[in-house]
Amino acid sequence: MEVMMQGLNVVKEYVSGELKVKAIKGINFSINKGELVVILGQSGAGKSTLLNLIGGMDYVTEGSLIVGGNDIAKYSTKELINYRRNNIGFVFQFYNLMPNLTAKENVELATELKKDALDPIEVLTSVGLKNKIDSFPSQLSGGEQQRVSIARAIAKNADIILCDEPTGALDYETGKEILALLAKQAKEFNKTVIIVTHNSALAEMADHLIRVKNGLIALDEYNENPKDIKDIEW
Ligand code: ADP
Repeated sequence: MEVMMQGLNVVKEYVSGELKVKAIKGINFSINKGELVVILGQSGAGKSTLLNLIGGMDYVTEGSLIVGGNDIAKYSTKELINYRRNNIGFVFQFYNLMPNLTAKENVELATELKKDALDPIEVLTSVGLKNKIDSFPSQLSGGEQQRVSIARAIAKNADIILCDEPTGALDYETGKEILALLAKQAKEFNKTVIIVTHNSALAEMADHLIRVKNGLIALDEYNENPKDIKDIEW
């Protein structure tokens, strides 16, 4: 198995004025290529902070974060921008689509700057949006908007797809469809897919489960037989 990333004594401290909050308190972890990772934890545990560090959206305060052999904790602002552009696809709870662009244009925006990007129309078709390519976000359901955002992440052809509560704004069945689509990216396309959620039922679908509690890793385990999302109820 190929190691995709490794965190070594990772600390993240937020400072605002006199106040310091240690959101991540020195954690160690390792994630392999092609894994479906579920990061579980209660609100305020530090899940989003961890995901943002992995995604190069924020700076590590202490420690190392080795991704593809490079320590991104040592990156300059410019290097982090390139890292985000080339290595990471993001899927957010509220989709983060540009309202004035069509589905296709939203995907193109992410692929424009990447040489080995996939064809936006083909990717939108693969997520079931063949008939919605020229629709604007306001003309799409929540589930469809999330499909566009997944297509945007996939089309970049990055190795890592990071998802922060990707089903948080969706109904139960639609949420399951979105999770199936994300699981497929790991299983069929060998992407490293990391899903942050507070829904502990999703533990069963993970190849690799990491439970975060109070800025620390409380549990880090592998699932020999992860379940298909359609067989999980909550
Ligand atoms: P989770 O995603 O598990 O809900 P977060 O990573 O958002 O948790 O937050 C972890 C801790 O860090 C919380 O105490 C939160 O208030 C704090 N925190 C998160 N982001 C910031 C920030 N930008 N500035 C200051 N404190 C923050």
